[in-house]
This record gives sequence, C-alpha cells and structure tokens, in this order.
Amino acid sequence: MFRRRNTIEVKTRGELDAMRRAGLVVARTLDLVRRSAVPGASTGELNELAEQTIRDADAVPSFKGYHGFPASICASVNEQIVHGIPTRDRVLNDGDLLSVDCGAILDGWHGDSAVTIEIGTVPDRDRALSEATRAAMEAGVAAIGSAARLTDISHAIETAAQRSAAEHGVEYGMIAEYGGHGIGREMHMEPFLPNLGRPGRGPKLTSGMALAIEPMLTAGSSEAVELDDGWTVVTADGSRAAHWEHTVAITDDGPWVLTAPDDNS
Ligand code: MG
Ligand code: MG
Repeated sequence: MFRRRNTIEVKTRGELDAMRRAGLVVARTLDLVRRSAVPGASTGELNELAEQTIRDADAVPSFKGYHGFPASICASVNEQIVHGIPTRDRVLNDGDLLSVDCGAILDGWHGDSAVTIEIGTVPDRDRALSEATRAAMEAGVAAIGSAARLTDISHAIETAAQRSAAEHGVEYGMIAEYGGHGIGREMHMEPFLPNLGRPGRGPKLTSGMALAIEPMLTAGSSEAVELDDGWTVVTADGSRAAHWEHTVAITDDGPWVLTAPDDNS
C-alpha cells in the first residue's frame, strides 16, 4: 500500500502568462530551426542557432547541462526516438526524419516543445508516421478540456494513435517508458503522464495545471534502447520514430497551448 499523492502544481493566471512568454521563445526557436533544417545542414548548426535564439530572447536553454546533457536541443534522426545529441558531424540528408526537442527558461518559467521535421522529401510512410504522432499530441491537448483524471489524456493519445494506424493500414509502436510531465518552475515535475493506458486513473485535473504532452510513435517496435552515449534513445528494430510535444495549461476556457506559435492577434 502506498499513499496516493496529488502533486500537480496549480498556477495563477499571472504565472501562466509568464509560462506563455517562455513558451513563445520555444515556439520561435523551433520555427527558426525548422526553416534551417535542410539537406546539408548539421544538427550541430541547428543547435547553435537554437541556443543563440534563446539567449537573444534573454532566456536560458533548459536542456544545456540538464543532468549533463551537452546541448540546447535534442536532435533525433530517423531511428532515434528522443534525446539525440546534436553534432557538427551529423549532416542531414534528403529523406531524413528529424525530431527536435527544445526547452527554454524565461524569468524562471519553463517551456518545452518538440516537432518532427521532414528533411527535403521523405517517404509517404514517414510523413504519415509524423502526422499520426502530431494527431496523437493534438488529441491529448483536446482531451485536457474534458479530462477528469490524468490518464484520460493518456487514453486519448493512445486511441488517436490507434485510429491513425488503422487509417494508414499500418501498426505504430508506442514507447511506454517515456511520456509527458508536469512543468512550471522546473522542466520535469510531477506527475509522469503516460502516452497510453486505461482512462480514469491518476490525479484529478483542475484549472491552473500545466502539462507537457509528448507522444512518440515508431513505424515498428515499441521497444526502446538507450545508446552508450547515455542519452540517445533508438528503436530496437531500427524503425523510424516521430515525436511531437506541446506545453499546455488547463484553464476555465479549455486547453491553452503555451508553446504554440504567436498568432499575432
Ligand atoms: Mg521536450
Ligand atoms: Mg517534455
């Protein structure tokens, strides 16, 4: 028997406004990285661009030095699922699938977001994999508006992934060991948010909570392996992977995507 904890922090509107400002730095950074991620570019160059963009906004790259991580973005290519280390030696090729994860701290508040980028022209099945992952993330975001408990979000993510797989006539692997998380004055806070599982479990959700929602899907195995560098996580069978993430707040008006690009409104 263990004591059930409900440790999701509740933020004020002013605190969520501050998180939005951090989220916008991340959104702008990922937008610039996406536009520079072309065949011939290296993941190391993209990392330098990201770090400069974050620092120019008077923010701090949250990944750099996090448990010793050596860079400001994670750059995960093809069979790499998450936590790939960007280097000048890793030059992107036409047809690569690149997942970029980025975090920034502004005035003490964190934003955390990831996108999968098609380098040049990728095979249709890789585009479908990325679209399925993005749709699963969006289903998780939408579920925040109606979710009573944490794993209602997990269930929505898993259901959306399965729906896409059926539509695409394939099976997608889901990685159970990695998932979303609470976020605020730290990047990784309670609770862990699984990307799959039964609904109706975990802490109750209320307005003012902030969660990072980040499904990752593979074109094959649900088994993940960490490389000897201590960071890079790859698919066990070498199949390609995609990863999408947004930081989202629960508000009385529904989900607020704090890392969405500015709509200039
Ligand atoms: Mg992230
Ligand atoms: Mg995250």
